[in-house]
Amino acid sequence: MDKLLEVKDLVVKFALRTGTLTALNGINFSLLPGERMGLVGESGAGKSVAGFSIINLISKPGFIAGGEVIFEGEDISKYNFEQMRSIRGNKISMIFQDPMMTLNPVLTIGTQMTETLLAHKQMSKEEATEIAIECLKKVYIPSPETRLKQYPHEFSGGMRQRIVIAISLLTTPKLIIADEPTTALDVTIQAEIMDLLLELCIKEKMGLILITHDLGVVSQTTQKIAVMYAGRIVEKGKTLDIITNPKHPYTQGLIKALPQTHKKGEKLYQIPGIMPNLNQIPSGCPFHPRCTFKKDICSQIEPSLKSVDKGEVACHLYA
Ligand code: SF4
Repeated sequence: MDKLLEVKDLVVKFALRTGTLTALNGINFSLLPGERMGLVGESGAGKSVAGFSIINLISKPGFIAGGEVIFEGEDISKYNFEQMRSIRGNKISMIFQDPMMTLNPVLTIGTQMTETLLAHKQMSKEEATEIAIECLKKVYIPSPETRLKQYPHEFSGGMRQRIVIAISLLTTPKLIIADEPTTALDVTIQAEIMDLLLELCIKEKMGLILITHDLGVVSQTTQKIAVMYAGRIVEKGKTLDIITNPKHPYTQGLIKALPQTHKKGEKLYQIPGIMPNLNQIPSGCPFHPRCTFKKDICSQIEPSLKSVDKGEVACHLYA
C-alpha cells in the first residue's frame, strides 16, 4: 500500500538573535492511509513542532531547514502559501489543545463551518450548511440545526472540542493532526473525546497523528508510536510492543511515570531532571544526564536509531 505521509530527515531550526537553534534534528516516520500514530514525549521534546511542520505551520523565526514531507507522493514542505492552502484544513486537518484557539468567539458555529467549506470547495451556502449539519451529527451534537446559530461561548468545553472535530471533518481529510486534543478539558470529558476521535478515524478511514505527553491515551488510540526527546525520535515501534516492552530508558521512564502503573498510595515516579533547553543540548546522547543506565560512551557519541527486535531505538545499550 502506498504511504499517505512520509517525513524524511526533517530538520527545523529557529533563527534567534543569540544564534540558531535546532528544534527538530532530522526526524523520520511514515503513515499508511488510515493509520494512527502517537508522537509522545514531555514538553519541549519537539512533538508539536514536528506536527506543525508537516503542514508548514512553523511561525517565524522557525523554518524548515532540511528534509522532506511527502504527502500523497508530493513533497509539500516545498509548497508555497497558495499550494499549502489546498492541503491545510482540507486534506490535512489540525485539532488544537484549546478549542477557543480554533473557534472565533464573535462568529456563529454555522458561519465558521460554512466559511471553512466555502474556502476549500465549490458549492452553494445551502450545500455547505447541509454538510455542516451532517458533521455536527457525526460528533453527536444534538439539534445541530439550532446549534449552528449559536456562538462558541454557548457551548461547554467538551462540546466546543466536538465542534472543532466536526470542523476538521468538513472537508473529509485524509489525515488529522491532533495536538494534545484533550488537555484543556475536564478529566471526565477527556476519554469521551478520545473515543469519539478514534471512532471517527476508523469510520472515515482517516490517518491520525496524536501529539501527547500521555502514553496512556496513545496506548488506547494508536497503532504505532514515535517517542521524542530533545528534537529527536529515540524510539519507534508498534504501540503494543512499546507499551509492554519499552527499550529506550526514556520510554521506560515515561511508562513508569504513568499513574495507572502505580499501586494505591504509592508515590508517583518522576524521571529525574528536566528536558534540556534547545540551546543546551548535552553532548552525546541528549538523555544521558537523566539516564540511570548511562555508560562512558553516552556523553561522547550520539546514538542513532537502530532496529531492535520489532522496533527502532537510539541507545548505546543496544549497540
Ligand atoms: Fe542512557 Fe546511554 Fe542509552 Fe542514552 S545512550 S539512553 S544515556 S544508556
